[in-house]
Amino acid sequence: MTFARRKTRQIMVGDVLVGGDAPISVQSMTTTKTADVEGTLVQIYALAAAGADIVRCTCNDREAAEGLAHIVPRSPVPIIADIHNQYRRALEALDAGVACLRLNPGNITNPEHIKTVARECKDRGVPIRIGVNGGSLDKSLYKKYGGRITAEAMVESAQRELDYFREVDFDDVKISVKASNVPLMIDAYRQLADAVDYPLHLGVTEAGPPPAGLIKSTAGMATLLAEGIGDTIRYSLTADPVEEARAGRQLLEALGLRERKGLDLIACPSCGRAEVDVIEVANAAQNALSQLNIPIQVAVMGCVVNGPGEAREADLGIAAGRKRGHLFVKGRVVKVVKEDEMVGALVEWAKIVNEEGVEEAQARAEAGAAEAAEADRAALLDEQGSDANQDEVRIELMRKRDDT
Ligand code: SF4
Repeated sequence: MTFARRKTRQIMVGDVLVGGDAPISVQSMTTTKTADVEGTLVQIYALAAAGADIVRCTCNDREAAEGLAHIVPRSPVPIIADIHNQYRRALEALDAGVACLRLNPGNITNPEHIKTVARECKDRGVPIRIGVNGGSLDKSLYKKYGGRITAEAMVESAQRELDYFREVDFDDVKISVKASNVPLMIDAYRQLADAVDYPLHLGVTEAGPPPAGLIKSTAGMATLLAEGIGDTIRYSLTADPVEEARAGRQLLEALGLRERKGLDLIACPSCGRAEVDVIEVANAAQNALSQLNIPIQVAVMGCVVNGPGEAREADLGIAAGRKRGHLFVKGRVVKVVKEDEMVGALVEWAKIVNEEGVEEAQARAEAGAAEAAEADRAALLDEQGSDANQDEVRIELMRKRDDT
């Protein structure tokens, strides 16, 4: 099952295609002073490694613009300059060689300044993101819509900017209409998607620190992505921006909109049958396996009675039972290890699966492993019965109540 994408025009941000049938890209923004070239580049590299396809840097003063001139040629990903109130910074950022500008229509309001920047972008083939932000809406629109931030006002703000661009025949554009209120943001993007065919940059602005910030952002962006709306995304978290890039990548992978690049760890929630501390083992496995940077789905299951069956689709998994871990590849037991060797064994076999493939890994199954696993499973079923969570016992109690 895949989500059908809304048809949009395609633009290029440096060498990254945005819109049309291009993969949905992940963005993040540096938190360093852009004038600190080395510090900013360290952060850009960390963001790219965490999954960012495009990175935005603030261009709030002349020093920042000069920093961009040093950063752009050394960056592994295209750089967007975030322009605040002064259109001259936009022109300087273009001189620095940035791949895209972000203009907030609420901040740069002089039509001549806007058109000058658009003309300059047109000459250089550089796109602009019209970045409408509910919190910094143009005052005249705020007034027009009754002193409230509404989806209609945000869409009109984007349309006004587009009108200025049309006057100079510029349409190399993507648009965002971000708000910190999730239903408002969803409404604004839906209306915008109906009104224009430009690629859209999604985000919930000022979402705050995780976990609430992650949840708000995911609620807003995932709802729209599932409707086919959105061509590039950014989590705006009050956190290390590496978390933004990682979350962006994970959201797209979870929705099946980008190919898995890293680890997808699934784990059972644990229950009365659990033979091991599932949270502890899952966290240790997550830490160890994420270092490998390989695209693999790994399952950590608390018991051998139901675990291997429930996780049979995972590339690799481990289930606990009788102080041992049963390691399985696509549902087939390949090895039985001691409980304290479970995480180490997962790492070893993750490398095997990644390098040799599932069939080769299954062919390496140790002699007697499947039989040992089956014996553990049978013994546990024998000890606990088939009703370790006592579901049937409870249901029997209810039924007795009915009888009395
Ligand atoms: S039955 Fe086993 S695998 Fe399923 S939740 Fe309980 S411990 Fe985990």
